This record gives sequence, structure tokens and C-alpha cells, in this order.
Amino acid sequence: MSSGQGALTAELEKLLGPEAVLSGPAAERAYDCDAYTVDRSKPSAVVLPRSTDQVAAVVRWCNSRNVPYTARGAGTGLSGGALPALGGVVISTKRLNRILEIDVANQCLLAQSGAVNRKLSEVVRPYGLHFAPDPSSQTVSTLGGNIAENAGGPHTLKYGVTVQHILGVTMVEPSGEIIQLGGRVPGGPGYDFVGLVVGGEGTLGVVTEAWVKLVPIPSAVMTALVSFSTVRQATQSVADIIATGTIPAALELMDRGILNAVSQAFKINYAPGTEALLLIECDSDHSHEAMSRVEAEMAEVREVCERNGAIDIRIAADDAERAQLWTARKKGVGAMGRIAPSIVTHDGVIPRSKLPEMLDFVYQVAKEHQVGVANLFHAGDGNLHPCFYFDDRDPAQVHAVVEAGERIIRRCIELGGSVTGEHGIGVEKIDLMSLMFSIEDLRLQADAKRVFNDGDLCNPCKVLPNQKSCVEHKKRWRGTAW
Ligand SMILES: Cc1cc2nc3c(=O)[nH]c(=O)nc-3n(C[C@H](O)[C@H](O)[C@H](O)COP(=O)(O)OP(=O)(O)OC[C@H]3O[C@@H](n4cnc5c(N)ncnc54)[C@H](O)[C@@H]3O)c2cc1C
Repeated sequence: MSSGQGALTAELEKLLGPEAVLSGPAAERAYDCDAYTVDRSKPSAVVLPRSTDQVAAVVRWCNSRNVPYTARGAGTGLSGGALPALGGVVISTKRLNRILEIDVANQCLLAQSGAVNRKLSEVVRPYGLHFAPDPSSQTVSTLGGNIAENAGGPHTLKYGVTVQHILGVTMVEPSGEIIQLGGRVPGGPGYDFVGLVVGGEGTLGVVTEAWVKLVPIPSAVMTALVSFSTVRQATQSVADIIATGTIPAALELMDRGILNAVSQAFKINYAPGTEALLLIECDSDHSHEAMSRVEAEMAEVREVCERNGAIDIRIAADDAERAQLWTARKKGVGAMGRIAPSIVTHDGVIPRSKLPEMLDFVYQVAKEHQVGVANLFHAGDGNLHPCFYFDDRDPAQVHAVVEAGERIIRRCIELGGSVTGEHGIGVEKIDLMSLMFSIEDLRLQADAKRVFNDGDLCNPCKVLPNQKSCVEHKKRWRGTAW
């Protein structure tokens, strides 16, 4: 540790107490990236505040010393959002993890931003309620990270993404002021600043608490796992299901690459000849006729899948079987860890009708760049997640993965889609923003950012391209691998 770093750590320890500050090689290594491991940058120190006031004290201290800072939840982000791009202080929300109030009558709760997504639903399950946004990382990712990335998940096809479920936030602004935006009651008058902060990728301030909306747990659910002998049959079924007007609660696709990994890891076998699976869930919380509505939806879904050549359709008979059918979807990315040391999960959006041709393109690009690819994604949303598996110790493989990913995102935009569906821009996609937005659009976004963050210290080098001091650092993030 340099003497400058030592002094910085000592000052932070004075501010928060020694047990709330981490520094040295282990902390640098643990906090130098998120789940997008291609880019890395070491923090000078990591702080673990317990309250909004402590976060505000750290932000004010950073301002007084001109030190950059970056908020971090669980570090499961997939675009480098929690990367401390210019070093400085990582503000971890690990200890901001309390549920502060449960308001059953008004179907909402107040939690600190480091609370884990799954916990929000667990604490209100006895009341028949849950927090609907369910990113596949929900057993570890935090409310603050979900807010910053406007996270989606398998069930956001029907229930909407995070922004539709956040009523208000308490945030430490980059000035160090503590502000309240929105609150317990939905839809206040005036400009929707909560909507701006959700999806702001931690560049507008540090969220410390949030009021979230709760919705009833569905009273009737049916889950099907459908096997196809070609990926095209599966993607065509997705487009056709959506075209019927039936919106399942979840409509997820997994290809052979994922099934290979899952079969190896969990010894699960799928119907012989399966090249792609669709996981389809229909649900209803109507008090009357819930089950008959769900059965009618599932019958329609089934008819479409059979028409497209489904070779096997399994419907869960009970909760245990439902959990088993979800295994490939929930554990697919984890299982990929057995195949290769590194994974980059890309994220792009296309109109659902373009899924068949887009998947063909993904396989073609992977082949041309000689990288392995497997796909599991929110097909119903048209939200692609090609998972490239490789070894990030080999610079040539890193190059190939980055280039292949950029080609895929360019094609998404050509097909009328988007540069990201739910993983954000972070540092990963910053150079691709100009493919989607004009200079005027980007200027407007920079103006909106300046409403909260007029300096360069709060999570610098994220979302908007060409920020001061960032371009020259970009190469360094790739380190030895680049
Ligand atoms: C296996 C796996 C599956 C995933 N599945 C999904 C999925 O289905 N849907 C989906 O949308 N994403 C998914 N993700 C991506 C990731 O889990 C989400 O983006 C999640 O919302 C990140 O939460 P986190 O707590 O890990 O945030 P981090 O990675 O720690 O941070 C993410 C961003 O949020 C900012 N941030 C964190 N906390 C705060 C705060 N309190 N205030 C302000 N800014 C803050 C950070 O600065 C950073 O920019 C997945 C990731 C993995 C590894």
C-alpha cells in the first residue's frame, strides 16, 4: 500500500471506524471488477457504511479530497458498472441490508439498498405478497443494484421491470446532500425523478433506502418445459406465442450449450434429440377462475409449440416438479462455470419476430470468431443473452469475445432493437451508445445527469461516452489481458 493510500485509509477509518474500511491486496482483488471480468481497476479503499448518514459522510469526504467513488451492491453486474474505473473508494452496501418497514395494507415495504432481492419477497410471503422483479441473480443481487440497473428477470415479461416496482428512494446526492424522491404513495405530481434514478447505473448518487411495491403471489401457476429438436422451432414458437396475444408470466429459452452444462453438473437428462428448451410459465392471481384462466393460456401455448414441432412437453404436477423444470434456467450460467474459466454474458434486445434469424447470426458470429457460445435468455422479451465461454488469461480470446459481442449488438440495433435489455451500459457498452443515440440525444442525457451529478467523482466513466479522464484509462482496465 502506498503512503498516500495509507493516509486515505486512515482518514476513512476515522470517519467510519476501522471495522468499516477494507484496503490492501485482498480488497483490491475482490473489488476490482463485477461479474464482467474483462475490465478491472483497483480501488484505493472499500467502505462498509451502515446508515444513510455514514454514506453521506463518505461522499462529502470524497468531495473534499477530490477522490472518485463507486457504489457497489453484490457485484453481480454484467457490464462493469461497479468497477472503480478511476480507482478511489468503493462504497459497499453490504451492511445496509435491513428491512425497515412492512406496510401490508398499502402493499409496499421500505428496505435499505443492500437488502438482497430474494429477502424482500421472503419477508412478505406470510402475507401472500412478493416483490415481482426477479433477476436470475436474485439470491445475491441487491435492491440498490437492481434499482441502478433497472433489473429485469424471467417474470418481468408479465410483471414489468424494476422501475415499475419502485415507489421512492432515499439517495445521497453527489453533493453529499440526502434527498427523498417519491415515497410510500405511488404516482406523485411533478417530474418523475425516481424513474431517472432507476436505471441511472449509480451515476446520479448512492441510493440508501427504497420503498418498493408488493404484489399478490399468483394463486394459480402452470409451468411447462418444452423440448424442440432445433433452435429455430423454439424461437419461432416464442414469436408465435406472443403473436396470439397470450403473455405468459415467463418465456425463457435455453439451447444445447446450456443443456450440456446443466446435464453434466446436475445429471439431468432431457428428451433425446433436444436442441432447445422453452420454459413457459402461466399464472393468475384472480380470485375467481384463476386455474381455468391459466389452463386456457397453457392450452394455447401448447398448441403453438406442437404446431412448431415440439418433441416433448412436460407440465409440472406440483411445486417440487416445478422447481425441477426451472433447474436449467436458474442454474444454467453457474453450470457453465464447469466448461471454461471465464464467461461474458452479453445482453441485447431485438423485436421478438426477429429471434429466429438473430439466433442463427449469434451462432455464425461465434463460429467466425472461434469462441464457444451458449444461450439462455428472456426470449419472451426479445432479450438475448449469448454467453461466451473462454479463458480470459489469453488476450486473443478476450479480443475475439469483445469483437463477437460488438457484432451481435450492432446487429440487434440494425434489426430495430437495443444495445442493452437489462444489464446496463457500464463500461462494457459505452462505445456502442452512439450507435443508438445521436449526439443531441447523448447531450440531453448528459444534461439530465448534471441535474444530480455535475462533477466527475460519482461513478465516473459509466454510461455516457467521452467523459473527462476516462478515454485514456480505458486501455488500462483490460490490464495484461488486452
Ligand atoms: C448469474 C447471473 C444472472 C443474472 N440475471 C439477471 C437477470 O435475470 N436480470 C437482470 O436484469 N440482471 C441479471 N444479472 C445482472 C445483475 O445481477 C443485475 O444487474 C443486478 O441488478 C446487479 O445487482 P448487484 O447488487 O450485484 O449490483 P452491482 O453489480 O454491485 O452494481 C451494479 C450497478 O449498480 C450500482 N449500484 C449498486 N448499488 C447501488 C446503490 N445503492 N446506489 C446507487 N448505485 C448502486 C453500481 O455502481 C453499478 O453501477 C445477472 C447476473 C448474474 C451474475
